[in-house]
Amino acid sequence: MFKLTPNFKKLAVVFALSQIISAQSVLAAETMHDKLIVAHRGAPAYLPEHSLASKTLAYGMGADYLEQDIVLTKDNVPVILHDHYLDTVTNVAQVFKTRAREDGRYYAIDFTLAEIKSLNLTERFNRETGKAIYSGRFPLWQSTFKVPTLVEEIELIQGLNKSTRKNVGIYPEIKAPAFHRAEGKDISKIVIEILAEYGYDDKTDAIYLQCFDWNETQRIRNELGYKGKLVQLLAENSWGEAPNVDFDYLKTAQGLADIAKIADGIGPWMTQIVPEFDANNQPIITDLVKNAHENGLQIHPYTFRQDSLPKWAKTQEEAMQLFLYDIGVDGLFTDFTDVAVKFVENHQ
Ligand code: CA
Repeated sequence: MFKLTPNFKKLAVVFALSQIISAQSVLAAETMHDKLIVAHRGAPAYLPEHSLASKTLAYGMGADYLEQDIVLTKDNVPVILHDHYLDTVTNVAQVFKTRAREDGRYYAIDFTLAEIKSLNLTERFNRETGKAIYSGRFPLWQSTFKVPTLVEEIELIQGLNKSTRKNVGIYPEIKAPAFHRAEGKDISKIVIEILAEYGYDDKTDAIYLQCFDWNETQRIRNELGYKGKLVQLLAENSWGEAPNVDFDYLKTAQGLADIAKIADGIGPWMTQIVPEFDANNQPIITDLVKNAHENGLQIHPYTFRQDSLPKWAKTQEEAMQLFLYDIGVDGLFTDFTDVAVKFVENHQ
């Protein structure tokens, strides 16, 4: 029988270890980019937003974080939907004709998980015309997709992290917390309990929890005691994203200093950083990024879409060059994870 000499054994162990270490460092290098690429609703440029298929594709494209928008069902189950309505991404209006509210909308909160699971999820469409919002994307009503629960999605991502030995993070958003509370439901509390169950509960974990509602962001930190990274999203007051929140104030140096006492970053709209280009074709840059960085806040603006760019940009690359490397934001939300990953990897 072949027998290893002690020295040969030692060499073999060293060799095996070096293989493990180099494999790990390759994987670690692949896991996180110097600029965070957040897969906005998965890979909606290619597959219906927030379907597990869309998340899997974005994962495979090399996203650093995958985004979840969270609303509650009637039976208090967090599900992944961008709006708290079902009628712009599912066939709810056909299946449950009589269940719209007076405003004609179908609210996720009026349906049980079993009812929502009976619906087909599809590409986002205009509920008046029935036509796709982005005509060049995945065709309407093709194949079969379902609205996922938060747990299903976390288990998908953690499962992929195990099988691919990566550490791709989650970027959940608590949607419309004031609306949920008016309906008698504490969405943040329910979501935070699930996050803790799956190991997302401190700043070293691969998670950013985001919310537009500044009152809720403070409540999540102070009253609910959440210790993970928090991102305060910034809207415009005119959008009606969060009642009793003054985004004009939050965008000021003083507002950002207030945010920095609670949160780790901000998620502004791109236009809040570059409102427009001047007559000499130079970008007008607000002091939002400078003020946020001076307060130690990270900045992840939304949303970079090759098929829906600001009018000053011809390509997503041009917009990413300006934001990521000229202005110096720390990451971005994109519908095109593949385009963003390729761009930042070519920069490293
Ligand atoms: Ca979102």
